[in-house]
Amino acid sequence: MARNLDPKCRQCRREGEKLFLKGEKCFTDKCAIERRSYAPGQHGQKSGSRLSDFGKQLREKQKMRRVYGILEGQFRRIYAEADRRKGITGENLLQVLESRLDTVSFRMGFGSSRTEARQIVRHNGILVNGKRVNIPSYQVKPGDEISVAEHAKAHLRIKAAAEAAESRGFADWIEVDVKELKGKFKALPQRSELPSNINESLVVELYSK
Ligand code: SF4
Repeated sequence: MARNLDPKCRQCRREGEKLFLKGEKCFTDKCAIERRSYAPGQHGQKSGSRLSDFGKQLREKQKMRRVYGILEGQFRRIYAEADRRKGITGENLLQVLESRLDTVSFRMGFGSSRTEARQIVRHNGILVNGKRVNIPSYQVKPGDEISVAEHAKAHLRIKAAAEAAESRGFADWIEVDVKELKGKFKALPQRSELPSNINESLVVELYSK
């Protein structure tokens, strides 16, 4: 399975903002962005570099890929699916990404980061409507119940991650029973419910060329 080996904090510094890729560390003052908010590398501290429109579109696409931990080829396929669906392509794109089983599990706190949630899915730790699903890209549907498998419930890190997520508050489109380590994907998220630091229209502009 191919994956992005670029260190996670470096990816945030490249984008110039916190992408929350490392779980609890992201919420502490150990976060690399809190310490060095300039881009990595020799020329990272140069200021005033201006991006072309194409550069901005490209950066936004890279950021979105990094937030959701998706490689280039797979991201193209996700975009094609979003484009195929009725409605606004940019919003569809975010909904396809947010419906992935690894992201839903992460949002429910069944992993302190998307990477960890993905690993738990791969290791048969997540059930969808009571059935084992170990495919991180599996599309969860509104009404589906997601739960931590019995054998994984004993893992303290899952419990700790769920409690930490609960203390920060869950997204409106899911409901979670932290004690039982299960939750419901109530509905597809609306654009207004999703973070505003992603500009999906730039990604649509890039792929529409
Ligand atoms: Fe990004 Fe988290 Fe590293 Fe901060 S700690 S730079 S938010 S991955």
